[in-house]
Amino acid sequence: MNIYEYQTKDFFRAYNISVPKGYVVKSEDQIEKNLRRIETDRAVIKAQIHAGGRGKAGGVQVVDSMSKGIEVSKELLNKPLVTHQTSEEGIMVKTLYIEEACDIEREWYLSLTFNREEACVALVFSAYGGVDIESKDDSKISKININPLKGLSKKEVSKLVENLKVSDPIKSDFVDLVEKLYTLYSDKDALLIEINPLVISKENKLVALDGKMTIDDNALFRQEDLKDLQDDTRHEREREASNYGLSYVNLQGNIACMVNGAGLALATLDTLWLHGGDAANFLDVGGSASPEQIERAFEIILKDEKVEGIFINIFGGIMKGEYIAQALIQSFKDKKKKIPIVLRLEGSGSEAGKNMLEKENIDVIFVDSLDEGAEKIVTEIGGSN
Ligand code: GDP
Ligand code: MN
Repeated sequence: MNIYEYQTKDFFRAYNISVPKGYVVKSEDQIEKNLRRIETDRAVIKAQIHAGGRGKAGGVQVVDSMSKGIEVSKELLNKPLVTHQTSEEGIMVKTLYIEEACDIEREWYLSLTFNREEACVALVFSAYGGVDIESKDDSKISKININPLKGLSKKEVSKLVENLKVSDPIKSDFVDLVEKLYTLYSDKDALLIEINPLVISKENKLVALDGKMTIDDNALFRQEDLKDLQDDTRHEREREASNYGLSYVNLQGNIACMVNGAGLALATLDTLWLHGGDAANFLDVGGSASPEQIERAFEIILKDEKVEGIFINIFGGIMKGEYIAQALIQSFKDKKKKIPIVLRLEGSGSEAGKNMLEKENIDVIFVDSLDEGAEKIVTEIGGSN
């Protein structure tokens, strides 16, 4: 789960990591009031979205008057922002963060991430931070692995800045900041905290000017207060599906898919595409779905108005063919509107399932393989890609 810059900075403040004074704006009538709270004319207007590259895309702007601040804020709020990290449509800016501007002397890069291969926390540092960090050459980037059982070595951290041309207080502030950041990282079960840029201001202060933080979803059960920060941008049907324990992702095509197993579901999408079809969704009903869950899954895919046909691809194991048949009978027995349903049912209970469907006269087209099924559903609806 990603949290916004202003939420990350609230944590920084709570952990005594220095950040500029800043206020959140969610509607036009809050703009002027919050610009005034900055108490200087030089402010930074920052679009709050879960994507980087805002600086280069006009989503972070330094202004030097109240009128300019209002103008820029109105320009950004409730409009989509397109950066090199978003889709072409961009992301709707629903929140702005208005900060006191900082006069920058130098920009550093600092992050803590999870190093899976070495089972430790990786600290990444560069004395060349800022918006172009991605294009900097690797030799200018240092990395320290932190063993979570041993914790941080101050000595190792101080070596990172030892030879840089900055004052001694900045060097010791840096070590101090890394320690606090590491505590925050551990306390909140973060997977990533990134500060880019970490700046040295003209007043010779170390300030976190940006903040990005990702929390481990698997730890949310013990991070009760963090759950409230979750910003659910998922599609309504996706939320509904997850309430029923189904993995559903809405897609752009017109063939609804129902599959058990994520790998098989992906293979199904690819095979459909090969045959000129385009999936309306990814749906993994899992290995142990009950007939009721499968019925809910049918309900959800049929709520999608794009859907013109259904391709069911099930390899029965713990999931029995009878369950699929039972759910199909419940869902389609009395359905007036008919759409083509192609069914590949293999493995446990497949024969029994097919018999049940034939007995109830459910109008499905049986196929024997993924390939044949994909071809069949595409022919039925007349192609889609
Ligand atoms: P990002 O592009 O999404 O990573 O957004 P950042 O918050 O990192 O802002 C982008 C850039 O804007 C930074 O690298 C800074 O160079 C600049 N910037 C951000 N805040 C300030 C500020 O208070 N004063 C000045 N002069 N520049 C700023
Ligand atoms: Mn940044």
